[in-house]
Amino acid sequence: MDLKFSLCLVVLLGTCLAQKIRYDGFSVLRVVPKTEKELFALKKILDNNRQFEIDVWRFAGVVGKHADIQVSPKYFLQLNQTLAENGLSPKVTVRDVQKLIAEQELKNHEVKETAGVFEYGKYHTLDEVNNWIDNITKYYPNITTVFEITKSYEGRTIRGIRISTGEGNSKPSFFIEGGIHSREWISPATVLYMAGQMLDRYSADQRIKQLVDSFNWFILPVFNVDGYEYTWTKNRNWRKTRSKHGLCTGVDPNRNWDYEWCKEGASKDPCSDMYCGPKAFSEVEVKGVADFIMKNSKMMKGFIDFHSFSQLWMSPWGYTTKLPPDFKDQDKGSELAVEALEKVFGTKYQHGSIANTIYVASGSSADWTYGAAKIKYSYGVELRDTGKYGFLLPPDQIIPSGKETLEALIALGNFVVNN
Ligand SMILES: [Zn+2]
Repeated sequence: MDLKFSLCLVVLLGTCLAQKIRYDGFSVLRVVPKTEKELFALKKILDNNRQFEIDVWRFAGVVGKHADIQVSPKYFLQLNQTLAENGLSPKVTVRDVQKLIAEQELKNHEVKETAGVFEYGKYHTLDEVNNWIDNITKYYPNITTVFEITKSYEGRTIRGIRISTGEGNSKPSFFIEGGIHSREWISPATVLYMAGQMLDRYSADQRIKQLVDSFNWFILPVFNVDGYEYTWTKNRNWRKTRSKHGLCTGVDPNRNWDYEWCKEGASKDPCSDMYCGPKAFSEVEVKGVADFIMKNSKMMKGFIDFHSFSQLWMSPWGYTTKLPPDFKDQDKGSELAVEALEKVFGTKYQHGSIANTIYVASGSSADWTYGAAKIKYSYGVELRDTGKYGFLLPPDQIIPSGKETLEALIALGNFVVNN
């Protein structure tokens, strides 16, 4: 091979590696299984995801509740036909996934920023989030500190901020995490907005002051750091961690927790987006966060894992449709949260147990924080929207999402303190 050719190859390969995966002509189909038989058939089709190049945006789990399925143009007709043969009538909710990706990227690029001011109404890269952590803790040195969980599979540090006012040691704690599923960008963005408001409005707003003073806050904006970085650089649709398992990459970090691990609503197939991992806590990220929570679990009274999308405020259990003994109290917290949320812009959320509201999912964060770490008020929240944009929510919805979710948090915080 002559030098010129090998150089060219290197350049080509470089370009190749730098290129992002495109989703031109990919669409999202919505189907509602009306009977157990249809639900069973739908699950079977989704389990066979490689056959149709399917990427599930929202899984199927409950009769009468929809699933959202992304499909490539190559398999569009075939998938439609297979669904129809099983009595399912799909409707297109997204016509061109790449178009939405491009729009989100462009609008994000167009958000005006003031030098030296963090723009909350914009999606941020992992480096930018880390800068925010450094800067905000420097700006509020008396009430904030940085906490580090562990290093990720690819060696990135998982970091968050602790907000603690007054006599920190005698107070209950509250843990908030975003970005466990990396493509759900509204989650870290909403968490950052709320944390920023809690600090910026602490002195001037009595309700915020009360919320902040009630707990020691542990706020982790980006849980799945490797996946998040990957959504910015390579594949906007990436959900899992980035650990290697044979031919496939990644474990679903919200199926990897050591509580009723890998039962219904999780997959043993390493190529599945719901892969539970080779064992419980196989993922250093999940193990790290769990150890951190367990170490502080005595005083930990609240936990929220923020996801998107579907607009749901949910409590355990995820692994079974049976309700836990504390469900009434837990769901009361959800009810108060969604009532407060709706008052801001009229955004409607549903609430209930995870398994009854969205689908059965075992080995999820909230089941473990409740079942193993004994945090009674443990929640999984699906933020905006209901599927028009899905994960590709335009940045002009970040601040509205942050505002309404902060109201929900204030209502829930009050409730938890008084119970
Ligand atoms: Zn999620």
